[in-house]
Amino acid sequence: MIDTTRPFTVAAFNQYLSEKKLMASRCTRCGELSLPPRAICPKCYSGALEWMETSGKGKLSGFTSIYIAPTFMVEQGFNRENPYVSGIVELDEGVKISARILGVDPKKPEEIKVGTPVSAAFIETGEGEARKTYLAFEAS
Ligand SMILES: [Zn+2]
Repeated sequence: MIDTTRPFTVAAFNQYLSEKKLMASRCTRCGELSLPPRAICPKCYSGALEWMETSGKGKLSGFTSIYIAPTFMVEQGFNRENPYVSGIVELDEGVKISARILGVDPKKPEEIKVGTPVSAAFIETGEGEARKTYLAFEAS
């Protein structure tokens, strides 16, 4: 069973990621999905929300190879010589989210195709207290 009583916060979203669940917030008034979740519906401003588990499946709708990485990615070993691909994924549920894209070659962006089917992957880093789970998508 999924605990759906959590607040609509980034911390709760990250906790779901650590449980390998990609959860969106859904407005119970107008049905709008938000990913990452928001405490207020961006469409009708209702605060009546519920958690919804997404399929984690979608397609690549845009991407870029990142050579100058933000600090938390540098800490994972990415740099000018070892780039990674960041992409926008449109989930089957219709929401878009940006995340790292796995299973593609960052040094050959010309071979990466918009529309490629992807599915959610959960990257675990660190140990003990420092353990974190990041969302990524794997090209299939
Ligand atoms: Zn709404």
